[in-house]
Amino acid sequence: MNTADLIVENARLWGVPTADGPRPDSIALRAGRIVAIGTRAELAPWRGAATRQIDARSASVTPGLTDAHLHLVAWARSAGELTIDPAATLAEVVERLRAFAATRDDAVLIGRGWVAEHWSDGPDWESLEAAAAGRAVVLHSKDFHAVWASRRAFELAGLDERVSDPAGGRFDRDRHGRLTGVAREHAVRPLVALAAPERDRDLARVRDAVARLHAEGITSVHVFEGPEESRVLRRALAGAPGGGVRVLAHVPHAQLDALLSVGIESGTGDDRFRIGGVKLFADGTLGSRTAAMLEPYDDGGGIGMELMSARELRETIARAFAGGVSCAVHAIGDRAVRSTLDAVEAAGEPARVRLRVPPRIEHAQLVHALDVPRFARLGVAASMQPSHAVTDTPTARTAWASRLDTAYPWRTLETAGARLAFGSDAPVEPPSGAGGLFACVARRAPGTSDESVMSPAQRLDLERALVGFTRGPAALDGRGRQGGRLEPGAHGDLVVWDRDLFAAAGDSLAAARPLATLLAGELVHRDASVAAEVGEVSTCRS
Ligand SMILES: [Zn+2]
Repeated sequence: MNTADLIVENARLWGVPTADGPRPDSIALRAGRIVAIGTRAELAPWRGAATRQIDARSASVTPGLTDAHLHLVAWARSAGELTIDPAATLAEVVERLRAFAATRDDAVLIGRGWVAEHWSDGPDWESLEAAAAGRAVVLHSKDFHAVWASRRAFELAGLDERVSDPAGGRFDRDRHGRLTGVAREHAVRPLVALAAPERDRDLARVRDAVARLHAEGITSVHVFEGPEESRVLRRALAGAPGGGVRVLAHVPHAQLDALLSVGIESGTGDDRFRIGGVKLFADGTLGSRTAAMLEPYDDGGGIGMELMSARELRETIARAFAGGVSCAVHAIGDRAVRSTLDAVEAAGEPARVRLRVPPRIEHAQLVHALDVPRFARLGVAASMQPSHAVTDTPTARTAWASRLDTAYPWRTLETAGARLAFGSDAPVEPPSGAGGLFACVARRAPGTSDESVMSPAQRLDLERALVGFTRGPAALDGRGRQGGRLEPGAHGDLVVWDRDLFAAAGDSLAAARPLATLLAGELVHRDASVAAEVGEVSTCRS
């Protein structure tokens, strides 16, 4: 009999069925997969001279987590950008930018994180001039659906006062009709394009970002990248241990025809890198009141924006499905969610059931009660970001005051049989393993009280939260039973935590850290307290 490469013992194994008799507490890996689960004694035959061991010290062992929605390259790049605290005032942003600009000689200064809702003035050109006179500045809003850019940036992008609003986008203008420096939705594109990627730094940044994912217990990602970012990602992952991270790569709308023209279907690829669906934008965001609503916002902000009309959505999704391409549709408001479900339904069951990767709605932050059962019925997964519910709580309380019970409705959807997949939407929020689990379970930030929780009935128990970070997303990335489970035959992706997650009361869950993270049986992250003889963490080869 072949012996195991590695045995993790003395573990509390999550999701392993316990028959009568002693509880399985050991797991053996060989050639990148789980080969056996049982008691220490039962696994004795797998132990050989070369078998390494990790003592889990009675802590939880779970499958490696998936972040089911992130922009990995943008998050990696953001390490070199100005980070603005969303609570910052206009004056504070100017001060931060002035200090940042003084230390940087970049042709374009890039930052992110501003929220202008509570400012009495701005965002405007004058403030950016005060901080970085004459320089090109591009500052993303926290939700990445608006950009505040300097005069010089507008010039470089070829935009002047004569510019008209593009379809699905808008340039803010003052009461005299003059540009202010803010572009929204699709109008941001020429400004964002100025942020010329510093290609030589990209590979190192992405590898560094992947190491940070491992340190969070994340071994799989569902990404939304542009063509340039996809190339960077594939180059960065080539040659990385264990493949670096497993990737389901969704494809931008602009590339749909390219996919269809060469007959590449969703699900094409292998267990390391697979093509997902086409990413479509049905609406904007809550923060900028551009999420498309069935009923007006409660704070007088109208009914939002449809970035694709119901008809465009229907036609595009039907065309994609006919070519075997699934969809991942950004839909935040209840109108956008409904239009997306309508479009998937209209494409017809025969085309839908042939897809190798299920269709999904990204965010689904507000779902009308009538649409809840349609997720399960149409096989549409809900890709949601638990940390958004926490950070959006103050905004949702005003904008959606009358319908908070249907906002961020994880529990409602889960109870109705919808498949949930959880993620961070990094760089909007940082990817976090334990932090994501805590957000699901507590629906508040660590250190805050239960009174701050919005619609507490939507909280999930830890069991369901873990499903949403493991089995749920694995069912969407073509890995099926091989992913997100602790069972023989499954991928050897697992996390040895520093505590028993199910015994972690209160904020202690958010503080949980991986002692070790394994990807395809390779140790990709090891806490300093894990004995070195287990093996050094394999580092990325360049
Ligand atoms: Zn996103």
